[in-house]
Amino acid sequence: MKRLILFGAPGSGKGTMGDLIARDFGYAKISTGDILRAEIEQGSADGLRAKGIMDAGGLVPDDLVGELLRRRLLRGDLGESRGGYVMDGYPRTLVQAEALSAIACDSEKAIFIEVSETEAVERLLSRLTCSKCGAIYNLRNKPPREDGVCDLCRGEVGRRADDNEQSVRQRFRVYAERTLPVIEYYSRRGVLVRVDGNGAAAAVYARIKGLVA
Ligand code: ADP
Ligand code: ZN
Repeated sequence: MKRLILFGAPGSGKGTMGDLIARDFGYAKISTGDILRAEIEQGSADGLRAKGIMDAGGLVPDDLVGELLRRRLLRGDLGESRGGYVMDGYPRTLVQAEALSAIACDSEKAIFIEVSETEAVERLLSRLTCSKCGAIYNLRNKPPREDGVCDLCRGEVGRRADDNEQSVRQRFRVYAERTLPVIEYYSRRGVLVRVDGNGAAAAVYARIKGLVA
């Protein structure tokens, strides 16, 4: 199994790039944010525990995210994905990086999508997300064909609870404090590639695609 890890600030495009990689390379995409939001949607105890923290832009405790990730990795479809999976939003802390390192894989690569904070914030505040499948839209340049309805699954499309100015500010603070050291950790291990994440999704993907296989 190949493992590709996407790093980047909130709004850097990890989710969008992860979707494109999954589509083109047949990789499974694992997004801990999507997994957590699915738990909330289902009203599970884990979801309940996570919701307030996520809405405020904080980090969900490592043990809870770790357990949800473990369950996801055990699901059968990973074997059907063509030899790889792409991680979006994990690891976000050094404890999580250690936990991931304990899970074997044949090769590991990390891509750091670097984007200006101004552009990232602008994207987050105009972003729309499908509450059912996680598909990402944008008020400015990629609205759903039908207002409020997902093109892909007809789920409800709207603003994420944490895509407001106050939570976005907190997410950036947490990213700088907790996740930048994780990126540094992968850089020291020599598996990190930096990519310019500014500009249109297609342009950024053109820079990333060749790094995947
Ligand atoms: P973004 O990268 O835009 O902030 P995500 O969907 O990746 O969005 O994450 C949304 C929220 O979910 C985070 O702010 C955090 O509260 C929670 N979360 C997601 N992944 C993790 C993780 N690996 N560890 C802790 N919390 C997480
Ligand atoms: Zn959808």
